[in-house]
Amino acid sequence: MHDTVKALKGLQAIDRDLYAVQRELKRLPAELQAREGSLRAQQGEIDSRRAVLHELQKRIREIEDHTTLQRQRQRKVEAEAMKSRGDVAMIAAFQHQAQSLKREIAEEEDEGILLVGQAEEQEEVVVALEERLTGEKTTFAELHKNITVELKDAKVREAALLERRQGCCATDVDAASLRLYERLLEAREGDALAELDGRVCQSCFMELRPNQLVLLAQGRDLVQCPNCDRIVVPRS
Ligand SMILES: [Zn+2]
Repeated sequence: MHDTVKALKGLQAIDRDLYAVQRELKRLPAELQAREGSLRAQQGEIDSRRAVLHELQKRIREIEDHTTLQRQRQRKVEAEAMKSRGDVAMIAAFQHQAQSLKREIAEEEDEGILLVGQAEEQEEVVVALEERLTGEKTTFAELHKNITVELKDAKVREAALLERRQGCCATDVDAASLRLYERLLEAREGDALAELDGRVCQSCFMELRPNQLVLLAQGRDLVQCPNCDRIVVPRS
């Protein structure tokens, strides 16, 4: 078992680094994706606020066109009233018409002023959001560049580790022990072995049972921690 343990320790040294590199290879693209998602959400908010702004501006133009039209009508009615000299009933009717047009125009203008205020507010928010997004896009471009470099570097390291792993130690380990090691490696995310300090597992700090200590002393079988399952090995 001495050779097996030695070989497993060699493998574990490589596998620990390999797991770390592979975690990076997962984490880095996930980080990029999360940032991209945030940029998309910000763009989405800008787009929907722009749509609201567009509607407001459309309504403001409609009001402007309509009040212009109403003012022309008002002037026409006033001119008609002037022409109806002497006809008191006609004058009264035209004046009444002119008055209600004036009221309508005033009401529409009030609405217009309110909407112009809302549009200005909306535009301010949109401009601020766009400025922020532009800044974040610049940061993101920088991050993207760095992460691309980091990813390339991690892939090179992974390939080197995989190559080292192939040429290393596995031949010194019997098939059953290697299967156990690899199962634990996966279950414990890169840490299949636990060092012993006296009787205590240094991964989970539980004590080994007395019969396990006997087995360990005999050196014929691999011994696993009763708590975390890892293969226990003497401290190096
Ligand atoms: Zn343990």
